[in-house]
Amino acid sequence: MDLTKKMNYSRYLTAVSLARQPSALRKLTAIQNAGPPTLITLATGAPNSTLFPFHEATITLKDGSSFKLSDSLMTAALQYGPTPGFTPLVKWLKGLQQRLHNPPTLTRPGPEGGLDLVVTTGSMDGLAKAFDMLIKPGDNILIDTPTYAGTLSALHPLGCNFLDVQTDHCGMVPDALRNKLSKWTPGDSKKADSDIPKVLYTIPNGCNPTGASLTESRKREIYKIAQEYDLLIMEDDPYYFLQYTDSPAPSFLSMDVDGRVLRFDSFSKILSSGMRVGFVTGPAPLIERVQLHMQVSVLHTSSMSQVMLFKLFDMWGDDGFKEQVKRVKTFYSQQKDIMIAAAEKWLTGLAEWHAPVAGMFLWIRLIGIEDTKSLIEEKAMSKEVLLAPGYVFLSDPNEKTSYIRASFSQATPEQIDKGFERLASLIKEELAA
Ligand code: PMP
Repeated sequence: MDLTKKMNYSRYLTAVSLARQPSALRKLTAIQNAGPPTLITLATGAPNSTLFPFHEATITLKDGSSFKLSDSLMTAALQYGPTPGFTPLVKWLKGLQQRLHNPPTLTRPGPEGGLDLVVTTGSMDGLAKAFDMLIKPGDNILIDTPTYAGTLSALHPLGCNFLDVQTDHCGMVPDALRNKLSKWTPGDSKKADSDIPKVLYTIPNGCNPTGASLTESRKREIYKIAQEYDLLIMEDDPYYFLQYTDSPAPSFLSMDVDGRVLRFDSFSKILSSGMRVGFVTGPAPLIERVQLHMQVSVLHTSSMSQVMLFKLFDMWGDDGFKEQVKRVKTFYSQQKDIMIAAAEKWLTGLAEWHAPVAGMFLWIRLIGIEDTKSLIEEKAMSKEVLLAPGYVFLSDPNEKTSYIRASFSQATPEQIDKGFERLASLIKEELAA
């Protein structure tokens, strides 16, 4: 399916992104890789990998199983690679996306269904490049409020206007989205000089910081609004694999009949955050722009990380991958229950919260405390408890909020209990002051 017949992607692109040109040298590398073995190559600047000191690597897993990187895999792991990603890994990831999301744009006829994928250096790398591609100074962008502090940090220097859309424990509220858009008519999206928003950024599952997950009906409603106003949806979903319900809502990608969803995935939470492997899935014309940006920044995500992950998936098969996801999910779900129990024990009457159905965060409102900034940043350390103050997740950091974020990722059950005991005592002292 040729998505460009339905969507005018150039409408969304910044002048910076449109000006990006393919690297002539990278093209030569592709020609070299596809050429016959008899091809004599004097063209590219890749170093001679026979001089690299590494010979082979054996990776042993915690369950005792192991795999070896040797010969061709080791060469690939140590050498420059294709910008979209290590080819066998890209193939595996495309299969994964098809299994998990079955995107309608992929199942229609056509070589890739107009959908493509690029491996990025964590999902943050993909997000930053997508913002660079889509957001110019003065643009209006629709975002959940509160939202991920890393996203706000990436967006602030781009000079955009934040259209904060209200959220609750089920994520972005569709009526609030409609309300934000009410100053425009859908027809404005056809006008070149209109300031109608073009991009909606949302964290659909286990939102950082609120822990909220969008329900299926909300997602469908939001997708409908995006169709009406011709919005691109940036679906930032690093907590996708940390969903604790038996029947999670389908992703925006899985509803995307138009080619208006850019989906950001990450292996940071389930395999390793230090390997820095994420991937962006979306319409080929947009993925191509992300790749052009990568050609002048990281060139490609670490070959070593990608080769290691590919070998791991190859050894595990689908069942092994599912087992790992299950293991991680079970752990975080138990941690969540422990934190909720500790909150009930210590914070009842002092604070309010909703138990999340995904992710690793509890978003807590401190009753009677209008601004948690100084309480958390200046006073909490005296009680030896560290939490995230709510204002860091707001587009206007000067706004006051009575919320704080607690993470149930790393603390032991004892530490969670003790931490909330300390928090309770801090709140009581503050209220008494
Ligand atoms: N988006 C959100 C909502 C996150 O919480 C995070 C990680 N904290 C990221 C993106 C970045 O993750 P990665 O490690 O894949 O770059």
